[in-house]
Amino acid sequence: MIKYIIVGQGLAGTLLAYQMHKNNIPFKIIVDPSLKSASEIAAGLINPLVFKRLTKSWMADTLFPIMYETYTEMENMLSIKFIEQKKMIKPLAEQDIPMWQKRIKQGKMNHYIDRLDDNLKLEGYKPIEHYGALVQTGSCNLSMMIHAMRNFFKQHNYLIEDHLKIEDVTFKDKSVYWKNLSAEKIIFCKGYKDAQNPLFPSGSFYLTKGELIEIESNALSEDFILNKNLFVLPLGQKRFKVGATYQWDTINEDTSEEGKSELLTKLDKLIDTDYTVVNHWAGVRPTVKDRRPILGVHPQNDSLAIFNGLGTKGVMLAPYFSEQMLQLLENPLAEINEEVKLDRFF
Ligand SMILES: Cc1cc2nc3c(=O)[nH]c(=O)nc-3n(C[C@H](O)[C@H](O)[C@H](O)COP(=O)(O)OP(=O)(O)OC[C@H]3O[C@@H](n4cnc5c(N)ncnc54)[C@H](O)[C@@H]3O)c2cc1C
Repeated sequence: MIKYIIVGQGLAGTLLAYQMHKNNIPFKIIVDPSLKSASEIAAGLINPLVFKRLTKSWMADTLFPIMYETYTEMENMLSIKFIEQKKMIKPLAEQDIPMWQKRIKQGKMNHYIDRLDDNLKLEGYKPIEHYGALVQTGSCNLSMMIHAMRNFFKQHNYLIEDHLKIEDVTFKDKSVYWKNLSAEKIIFCKGYKDAQNPLFPSGSFYLTKGELIEIESNALSEDFILNKNLFVLPLGQKRFKVGATYQWDTINEDTSEEGKSELLTKLDKLIDTDYTVVNHWAGVRPTVKDRRPILGVHPQNDSLAIFNGLGTKGVMLAPYFSEQMLQLLENPLAEINEEVKLDRFF
């Protein structure tokens, strides 16, 4: 008998399944590949700082080493490379400089800040008067990782391609049943679709739609990630991902002319070379009201659990919190971060 059923194979389901595989725990993943997933379109940017007040992003110092270690381990297992470290350039306004100087003097984030400097001319970009340069930044090619892991899960007979309907799930005698499967627990990792999951309290998510474009440009520097109101992420072969929008009023997976024109307006302020738009995507981030992931076993049903709420920074959060999620599944008394516990919504 399998121990766990995971529903969804985006970033959350993939990392949780990987932890189970590593620990020789029997499980199955159910995924509906016809559904769009945030993970497959996300830029996968890795950035340890929040620029608004120039602070470290939540738990960055704890998350970073585990993130790079876990993804490298997965890359080695799959014999592919989906993580790329690349410096990030943040163009600054005059009034941002004192804050950067203060942070550098404080020294608490100098392992992320490479330098603060003036006058940068990058091929294809307008001259940048002032800028900060970050290290330990980069990106995860999530689509490549998810698809390689899907093949891996298929080869190991872990994966079922199907659409799970909640009404087909039943619970009895500390077990969960779906079609011909039974397990100790079912863990929902359906991304934003869990905002409507009737098995959990409603109102915990505050979803964010996002749009991205891909451009092709022969004369744009591929040496750095640029980040100013929007990011320009080099993908190789003269392609760049540019994004993203944040929309809270309309939640759907449809690309829009407004989204595209918002991105193009911002892009044109940053670059001064020709480009062609070759792709345009939209997706929904599983963002939570208090901006923390959601991990836990349902307080009234031991066989029901959720791992979700990876929000806008899934790449950084998923490795560390998938480990915490597995600890919690294996031992209900395991000590995990208080802020992420599912209990907070009951
Ligand atoms: C435009 C955009 C840009 C982003 N950029 C970044 C970024 O630069 N860096 C970063 O760290 N994060 C970024 N994110 C956020 C990141 O994408 C998310 O945090 C992460 O992908 C969420 O993963 P998930 O597994 O929770 O959800 P998803 O990736 O949406 O996966 C959900 C899974 O559930 C499956 N599923 C759903 N319902 C069912 C069902 N009934 N039966 C079977 N399977 C089902 C789907 O098929 C899918 O496999 C971005 C998101 C968007 C939308």
